[in-house]
Amino acid sequence: MEKQKIYNFSAGPAVLAVDVLKQAAEATVNYNGHGMSILEMSHRSVPIVDMVTETRQLIRQLLNVPENYKILFLQGGASLQFSMIPMNILKDDETADYTDTGAWSAKAIKEAHRYGNVNVVCSSKEAVYNHIPKQFEQSKNQLYLHLTSNNTIYGTQWHEFPDTKGFLVADMSSDIFSRPIDVSPFGVIYAGAQKNMGPAGVTMVIVREDLIGRSERNLPSMLDFAMHADKDSMFNTPPIFAIYVVNRTLHWLNELGGVDAMYEQNKSKAKLLYEEIERNTLFTSPIAEEDRSLMNVPFVFADGGDEAHFLNYCAERGMVTLKGHRSVGGFRASIYNAMPKEGVEALVNAMQQYL
Ligand SMILES: *Cc1c(COP(=O)(O)O)cnc(C)c1O
Repeated sequence: MEKQKIYNFSAGPAVLAVDVLKQAAEATVNYNGHGMSILEMSHRSVPIVDMVTETRQLIRQLLNVPENYKILFLQGGASLQFSMIPMNILKDDETADYTDTGAWSAKAIKEAHRYGNVNVVCSSKEAVYNHIPKQFEQSKNQLYLHLTSNNTIYGTQWHEFPDTKGFLVADMSSDIFSRPIDVSPFGVIYAGAQKNMGPAGVTMVIVREDLIGRSERNLPSMLDFAMHADKDSMFNTPPIFAIYVVNRTLHWLNELGGVDAMYEQNKSKAKLLYEEIERNTLFTSPIAEEDRSLMNVPFVFADGGDEAHFLNYCAERGMVTLKGHRSVGGFRASIYNAMPKEGVEALVNAMQQYL
């Protein structure tokens, strides 16, 4: 695979495979020999409908999605799903449990409050979200338990999902397709594309069929899962180009061996980096060891230091977007599926040679 000029460690929008980008570039001029740009083509034309259908099939195959789930392509980002999910599923007098493991969880909680009883069953906020809470009590009348499978900003990840009384609902924006998952305990899985799947503009929602229309609210059509499911995500003009880049990314992933192979690669890339953070006395990880994310790796200077200097030093070596989130500081290396192992090795070398 061809190397990019630089290694982009951004948390999102994030690195995509170079081969995928080349195919996307070509499709913007002449889509599969149709003599037209994909940007100009009708979403109702046969080649485009076929491409969207195939993308759905690839998702179903790669994640082993059972037949009683719908796969939707929506807009509004993962952020709209914070509202759209409770709006569609949770009734006013029902209770949903939410776990508070970071900024995105907190946003999901804020929106859900508008649609039913929200019980925040655990929070690691007091500890600057440096771990995933393990011991917590769930509501007896729980409809679902919401979690953020990977906390992009803080660098924690649920490596095992909790048992629930109801079903699970998960924001998987930043670790979808990075590891195998068992879809069956989940009522809804949602993910914005721009971390591990493609460009911003499309959001994937996997929803169990019996939950569609469950809240019985009189919803605007654009916010109604039932409408989008009924129209195969073509109720209005979908973001076809974004879906196409997802399609190419999933083909790329499939050829590399699917999510199982990706998981092995991700584990070995993360191991390289965490081992260096442990070994190197200049740096330390603020995150509880057992909860460390395979996707977003925050680290800080152990005894203070000039952060801007280290970031410049890395940039000179072709490694960019390593600044930690403004709420955490320090550094963060996002090492999504499309970050090659060589990128992680280059970062480890830089850390070893610093000062
Ligand atoms: C980036 C991110 C979001 C926000 O996604 P948008 O598509 O910008 O709405 C939500 N949740 C998680 C876990 C994220 O990483």
